[in-house]
Amino acid sequence: MGQHEHVRVAVIGSGFGGLGAAVRLRREGITDFVVLERADSVGGTWRDNSYPGCACDVPSHLYSFSFAPNPDWPRTFSGQRHIRAYLEHVTDTFGLRPHLRFRHEVTMMTWDNDALRWRIETTRGTLTADVVVSATGPLSDPKIPDIPGLASFEEAGGRVFHSARWDHDYDLAGKRVAVIGTGASAIQIVPSIQPEVGRLTLFQRTPAWVMPRMDRPITGAERWLHRQLPFTGKARRGLLWGIRELQVSAFTKRPAELGLVESIAKANMARAIKDPALRAKLTPSYRIGCKRILLSSDYYPALARPNVDVVASGLAEVRGRTLVAADGTEAEVDAVIFSTGFHVTDMPIAERVVGADGITLAEAWKDGMEALRGATAAGFPNWMTIIGPNTGLGNSSMILMIESQLNYMADYLRQLDVLDGTGHGRAALAVRPSAVAAWNRRVQTRMERTVWKSGGCDSWYLDANGRNTTLWPGTTSEFRRATRSVDLSEYEVVRVREGAAAR
Ligand code: NAP
Repeated sequence: MGQHEHVRVAVIGSGFGGLGAAVRLRREGITDFVVLERADSVGGTWRDNSYPGCACDVPSHLYSFSFAPNPDWPRTFSGQRHIRAYLEHVTDTFGLRPHLRFRHEVTMMTWDNDALRWRIETTRGTLTADVVVSATGPLSDPKIPDIPGLASFEEAGGRVFHSARWDHDYDLAGKRVAVIGTGASAIQIVPSIQPEVGRLTLFQRTPAWVMPRMDRPITGAERWLHRQLPFTGKARRGLLWGIRELQVSAFTKRPAELGLVESIAKANMARAIKDPALRAKLTPSYRIGCKRILLSSDYYPALARPNVDVVASGLAEVRGRTLVAADGTEAEVDAVIFSTGFHVTDMPIAERVVGADGITLAEAWKDGMEALRGATAAGFPNWMTIIGPNTGLGNSSMILMIESQLNYMADYLRQLDVLDGTGHGRAALAVRPSAVAAWNRRVQTRMERTVWKSGGCDSWYLDANGRNTTLWPGTTSEFRRATRSVDLSEYEVVRVREGAAAR
């Protein structure tokens, strides 16, 4: 990348969002773009999360791009290795390699009010772009809680790592291992490592609701059918999608209906956990769905094994090799695996974006993230994000939301081109603060009735102020409609000042 390279669009990140954006840009006839990626391969969260047992809990035929169906998914819920391979395949099939810039971590991007372009500094040099599409994803920066004394653990010869940065060189066989957390990552890790470790201590701050996971291999006959008659794959996807659309109202409007689902989850637990004391520890006291509903058929059986202890309390302190829970329980271990999630509502990339008013996105979002239609933020012209604020889902495939956002991106670029008229990036679109505020008010009003607000739990969906700035309180079809095109009344058109040098 030369010092003064200029592109029409800079996409940041090469996970599902970034690769999807790249495919869409090419389909729109835009080839003047780069995809900046801090790592050395594509895949995003599906590259970084390689922990034992890592798999998606949304069925593969729905958790894939509509424009890149894969008739050969091996299982109903495919594992990380296959999802990562799928993304590599998409990269090759759609000719994205020439656009990829690996090991280009964005260190700062600054909007230039005069030139109407973004100046993007990376670890490998600087470039400028008319438009930035930020697809860094909410699950990209691992979060390790600030536990007093944690540094003393490695000083005492122990090993610590995060689930999303798995240390494959560390041999867990026979070791005393602590897993911290009971989210979607932990419940896949625990059954995968339990047979191998000497002793497993699970630090559970809050029990999870866990439903059975209907995973099975997809038969050769099914795959043959999907290859020979592609509409059967589409029909399968449609069915998976439709069922999840019908579930939405229970989450968003009628949480009481979820009581029935709780009984299925309780039966799932009762089948595996015979000890009433352990069952009591594992039974949540909040409404199912308030936190992400977890799917596993081997988590509870693993917890019932004799080499597993469940500490029903969060990790509060570390003293050398001894972990101390908030309730005072102590455990001496050899390794600690933090399955404690990601910086979602405080994503570090926001500190690296400086907008038209000279403030960072993190400052602009200090009271909570907000973006029009999950995409554009006030004060940040020609910048949009994929999987932005309030676009997450509790029960369906994020790929549906990503593809909606790509429709919005494509229309944004189309309309910008028309407004500009010169082909030289002499116009930009700045979202009106009033439009962002109105959108956000609508989203937050709808949020009040949802199980995520009223379900009696704390979760990563909520920010430091208790506001749900992550999830979409509606169906994926509603979001599809809301992002079909850019309503120019929600934007101000900014133009390069008269007399400014042509580029
Ligand atoms: P997470 O859902 O944010 O879970 C973090 C866990 O760490 C929570 O159980 C939390 O407890 C716990 N924790 C934090 N500090 C603790 C402490 N001091 N002591 C004990 N526990 C502590 O993170 P995640 O499991 O990595 O999942 C994040 C998201 O990634 C998921 O919700 C999902 O969207 C995605 N994901 C999907 C899959 C899949 O498709 N199967 C797999 C993995 C991840 P509290 O509940 O008390 O806060």
